[in-house]
Amino acid sequence: MDFKFSPLAYVPFVSVENMIKLVNSIGVEVFMSELADAIEADFKRWELFDKTPRVASHSDVGVIELMPTSDGDMYGFKYVNGHPKNTKEGLQTVTAFGLLAEVDSGYPKLLTEMTLLTALRTAAMSALVGRHLAPKGSKTMAMIGNGAQSEFQCLAFKAVCGIETVRLYDIDPAATAKCAENLEKAGVNVVSCKTAEEAIEGAQIITTCTADKQYATILTDNMVGDGVHINAIGGDCPGKTEVAEAVLRRSEIFVEYPPQTRVEGDIQQLPEDYPVTELWRVMRGEAEGRTHARQITFFDSVGFAVEDFSALKYVRAKIEGTDFFEHLDMLADPKDPRNLYGMLS
Ligand code: NAD
Repeated sequence: MDFKFSPLAYVPFVSVENMIKLVNSIGVEVFMSELADAIEADFKRWELFDKTPRVASHSDVGVIELMPTSDGDMYGFKYVNGHPKNTKEGLQTVTAFGLLAEVDSGYPKLLTEMTLLTALRTAAMSALVGRHLAPKGSKTMAMIGNGAQSEFQCLAFKAVCGIETVRLYDIDPAATAKCAENLEKAGVNVVSCKTAEEAIEGAQIITTCTADKQYATILTDNMVGDGVHINAIGGDCPGKTEVAEAVLRRSEIFVEYPPQTRVEGDIQQLPEDYPVTELWRVMRGEAEGRTHARQITFFDSVGFAVEDFSALKYVRAKIEGTDFFEHLDMLADPKDPRNLYGMLS
C-alpha cells in the first residue's frame, strides 16, 4: 500500500474524557492560574497577532462562530456556539472545539474539545482582568447566573484574586443549588441569594454570566455602588446585553478587542466612538487600570481568539509526555506527496 504511517501524519486529539483527566491531573485552580499567566504573556505580545472580529452566523435561537488568530509561528481557531435555549433541551448553551496548526507547514498540531476549555479560559481571562482592575483585597464576589460557566468563574477568582466568599443568584433556584454544592465542595464560602440585589450586597466584584438572547438588564443603575469591579460575561452577541447603559456610563470600560466588542459587548448600547481601554495596554503598563477607590471598573468580556490561542498552546504543551490524547488519523500522507490519488487504489 502507498501509505506511510509516520507519527507526523497523526494529529494529537484531546477528547472530553482526556481533557477531564488533564485538568484533574493539574488541578482546576492551578490550571486556570497558569492559563491566566499564559493569556497575559500573549496579550503582552499583542501586535504579533493577526486580529479579526470573530465570524458569526446568527439565527433566531443562537449563534455559531469561528475565532481564528495567528502569532506568525502557530495558527489557531475555535468553533463555538451560543444557544441560550439549549439547556431546556438538555444541551449545553456553549460547546466548542479548536485546532492549533504550525504556520510553517500548515499542518495541524492539536485538535481538542473546547467546551470545558472555553469555560476554563473565560474564567482565567476574567480573573486575570480582575487581578489588574478589582479593588485590592477583594474577598467577596457576586455571581449572577449560576449556569455552566459559573463555578469556573468563582474558582478562577479564588485562585487568582483571593476571593473567599461568593454570593450566588440565578432566576432558576436549581442552578444556584447546583453551583452552591459544587463550590462548597471546592472550599468556597457560599451565600445563596433570592435576588440579584441581595447577591451584590457587600461584594467588591460583580460577575454577570447569564444567558438570554435579549437586551436584559441584570444590573440597573441604582443597584451598583461606587468602587466595584464588574466582570460582565454574558453580553456577548448583537442584541444580547446584561447591564444598563447608565452603569456603563458611570464606569471605566476595559475590552479585549474593540472592533469585536463594539458589535457584541454591552457597549453595543453606547456610541461607536465611546472611549474604552484595551486590556493589552493595561497589562503592558501602557494604560492605567483602576485609578481610584470609588471608580467602577467594567470588563466588557466577549471572549477573543487570542485567549483561545493561549489555551490551545497551553494544552499542547501540557499533554506532552502524557497519555491524555489520542493520535487522530486526519491527514492524508501518501509516500509520494503528489500521488494523493494513489491512496484510493
Ligand atoms: P447557561 O445557560 O449554562 O447558564 C446561564 C444561567 O443564566 C442559567 O442558569 C439561567 O437560569 C441564568 N439566567 C438567565 N437569565 C437570568 C437573569 N435575568 N438573572 C439571573 N440569572 C439568569 O450558560 P453558560 O454556559 O453558563 O453561559 C453564560 C453566558 O456566558 C452565556 O450568555 C454565554 O454566551 C456567555 N459566555 C461568554 C463567554 C465570554 O468569553 N465572554 C464565554 C463563554 C460563555
